[in-house]
Order: sequence, then structure tokens, then C-alpha cells
Amino acid sequence: PTYPSLSPHATMKATPVDEIPKIRAALRENFRKGITRPLSWRRHQLLQLARMMQENADALAESLALDLGRPRMEAYFAEVGAVMDRAIICAQKLEEWTKPESVDVPDWQKSWSPTIHKASKGTVLIISPWNYPLILTLQPLYGAISAGCCAVIKPSELAANYAALLAQLVPKYLDHSTYRVVLGAVPETTKLLELQWDHIFYTGNGRIARIIATAAAKHLTPLTLELGGKSPVIVDGTFDIGLAAKRILWGKINNAGQICVAPDHVLVLREKQEELAAAFKAAYDLFYPEGALNSTSISRIVSDAHFERLKGLLERTKGEIVFGGKTNVKRGFEPTIVKNVAEGDSLLEEEIFGPILPLVPVDSVQEAIEFVNSRDHPLVLYVFTEDPKTKKAIIEETMSGNLVFNDTFQQLSVNELPFGGVGESGYGRQVLKYSYENFTYDRACIDVPKSAEPTLELRYPPYTEEKLAF
Ligand code: NAD
Repeated sequence: PTYPSLSPHATMKATPVDEIPKIRAALRENFRKGITRPLSWRRHQLLQLARMMQENADALAESLALDLGRPRMEAYFAEVGAVMDRAIICAQKLEEWTKPESVDVPDWQKSWSPTIHKASKGTVLIISPWNYPLILTLQPLYGAISAGCCAVIKPSELAANYAALLAQLVPKYLDHSTYRVVLGAVPETTKLLELQWDHIFYTGNGRIARIIATAAAKHLTPLTLELGGKSPVIVDGTFDIGLAAKRILWGKINNAGQICVAPDHVLVLREKQEELAAAFKAAYDLFYPEGALNSTSISRIVSDAHFERLKGLLERTKGEIVFGGKTNVKRGFEPTIVKNVAEGDSLLEEEIFGPILPLVPVDSVQEAIEFVNSRDHPLVLYVFTEDPKTKKAIIEETMSGNLVFNDTFQQLSVNELPFGGVGESGYGRQVLKYSYENFTYDRACIDVPKSAEPTLELRYPPYTEEKLAF
């Protein structure tokens, strides 16, 4: 089948379902041949991936603009540039990461040379969503290349322009016998999931994650699940409220709030709510002096279904709209602040995944902590505070994949930190070395020399009293 793009500019031709097992079989065969094993070969593929970003930056940004209305600046910073830089860093770090590790053991075991080898898992499957379609397909891919794995990439059909471009570029830049793109939607993914893989790296929502995990369980396939959920913000009023509002609103307007780490709702001390709401308005006016719907600095909502879902959430809320809420025919949606939102409100049910930000007044930091702890563990917890006691309480008493004090999103720019969820927000980690580690396993190895025999005599039968006494 062909899948209509959400933009009028392209249709994405799906990979024929009966081709899919053949693709996997070819990759497995090529993995066994050892094509992906030499570090020099992996390094070349990584640099080719970086070159693919560099030489096609404009076309890639254009595809993201067609699919998501993404501003060029966001496309370069968050996706194209990030993959290019990180693929190069992987190429530089490969030797260090893949080096066998020797372990410290008691003297009598030293001659066995106990070593951990970073072994490649094999042929892996990467399934990605539409919201950051480039980095969420190619970040796992640079991990798989670094690890010496073969890989099939299944981009989201909802970002069809990007997916179609990726399918054209990958065979031009990367080894076709080891890296393949499968295009399609549910039927094609279902076919992929019937097959045995050596690892599945899935990014998306928790409902589909359960379908993926069930399919993986049939083959005991290890998984990475990068999921979403409601990432809360706590504001206790001790950090500059104007700056907090600017930093939170920036986190919310990126990709029109359609990002797994978007601040979902703000738990604010009751007496600070009005000041924070006014500060959001000031930040909004600064970002969009011409009004958000007239600005070229906003993304649109990805599909009619998501657009209607967001409008529905706003219609059903019992909170008061401070500003925003207007939409246009191009699925533009104004950043919208809603105050006095309380437990049970429509805006506190599911992940908002759009530019609506509810303010939930609380009476104390402790109440905010209890609110967070009574829900699924979030991907990120954002806390704006200058109070060391609050910071300590948050670190000790809450759980989340990432924890950020006094900013939003900036954790993603620290390449050396692992990114991932806990509980409902998923498991496994990514970025650079952490991406690579998904696709390797620690293979423990010893090599026992003949000369070690005297130290091993005791283990052989007959199990005499004399041996037992030793
Ligand atoms: P989506 O609808 O594009 O789906 C993701 C993938 O699942 C696609 O490739 C799609 O083809 C496949 N899929 C859809 N239905 C399927 C089915 N029935 N069986 C098998 N495969 C199927 O994206 P989405 O899930 O709406 O993505 C948004 C979610 O992803 C949000 O919850 C967001 O928070 C989360 N997310 C998490 C991260 C992270 O790194 N933790 C990053 C981005 C997005």
C-alpha cells in the first residue's frame, strides 16, 4: 500500500510485507559473515552517517517542515546537527568503548585472564515515532553501528516525508547489506514483530509499547522502551519567577509541545500562581510579539486527530484560560496557559503532548511531591527552586528518568548523561555510549592455562574427607 502523508506533498510507498522476512534473513546472514565486525568498517559507516546529515541538511529540514511545520532552527539544532555531531563522537570513541575490560580478581584467578568482551547482539530492529523522527531513528542507529550490529529502521508513517527521504538516503550512504529502512504502518510493523530480532529499540507511547513487549516476549528479545508520560514542573517561588516562566514556556513551545520531555503541567505554590501566570504572558509576548499564529517560530500539530484531541481537552477543562487557545486551519495551536486546574481535570488525565500548560495550585512542596508520587514515574521531573532543602527532598523522595533543576530540556544537551525513563516512562538508556550499550552484551570470558591445574585439583572426585577438611 501507499500511505498518504499528513502533508499534501508526498505519499510514502510501503515496503511489501512479503519482502520483510527476506530483508531480515539477508541482514542476519551478513552479520554472521562478520561484515560489521571490524572497527574501521564501523567507523566508516558512522562517518558516512555524519556525511548524510551534512550533505542533506536542507532536504532533511525541508522534510521535517513538511511533516511537522518544524522551524529550520529547531530541525538543525535538535535533529540534523545533533546526529551529525554524535555520529562523529562515536567514531572517535569506538576504540575506547569496545576495548575488552579486564577485571580485578583474587591472586589464584589472575592467570585465567578474566575479561569482559563487549559483544555485538546481532541484527536489531529500531521502531520510531513521528515527533522527532530524525533523531529518534538515527540516534539508535549510530548506537547499533557502533556496536557492530545490523539494523532495520522502521520510521513512523506519520512523518511520511522524512520517512520517504530516509529510505532514499540510507542506501546511498550506508552499507545496503547491513542497514535497511522498512517503510509502513501497522501491517508492516506487525510483520516485523513476528520475526526474531536480537534487540528491539522502540520509542513511542506506552500502549503500543505493550504490543511490542508482547511480541518480543515470544522470542525472548531484549528491549529498550523509550516512552513518554506526564513530566511535571514544580515551582516553589524561590527561583526568579520571570525567568522560570521563560524557561518553562520555551520547553513547552518546542515542536508545539509534541515532545516526550515537554513540561506537562506545573505544580505551583498557591500564593505564587498569579505571579507565574502573569510571567508566562510576559514570556509569550517576548517570544511572539506578532502573536503565535502569525509567527514562523512555531510548529503545527501533527495530525487532525491530535488537533481535535487537544481542542477536546481544552473544551472539557474546568480550569480558567489565562491566554491562548486559538487555532487556525493549518493546525496551528496557540500556546495556552490554564490556571486553577484541580485533580480530576481533563488536562491531568493523559499526556498532553501539545502546547497547553495547566497550572495546578498546591499548598506546599510536600503536597507537590505527593502529587508526583501518586502518579506514574515521569520521564523528567523539572523543579524550579533555590532552596537546598527542597532539592534534597526532591532527590530523595521522588522517582523519574531525569531530574532537572531550574531549566527545561537542557539535560538533552549534556551528551555524557544517560537519557531514559523509569516505570511507565520506559527502560533502557540512550545518547552516545548509552545508545551503543543497548546493542552489546557483556560477554564474560576466562582462559584457564594448564599451569593453573594445581590450584584446581581440589574440585575433582573422589570428594575425600581430606579435601573437605581443606
Ligand atoms: P507513532 O504513532 O508514530 O508510533 C510509534 C511507532 O509505533 C511507529 O513507527 C508506528 O508505525 C508504530 N506502531 C503504531 N501502531 C502500532 C501497532 N499497533 N503495532 C505495532 N507498531 C505500531 O508515535 P507515538 O507513539 O504517538 O509517539 C508519541 C509518544 O512517544 C509520546 O507518548 C511520547 O512521549 C513518546 N516519545 C518518547 C520519547 C523518548 O525518548 N522517551 C521520544 C519521543 C516520543
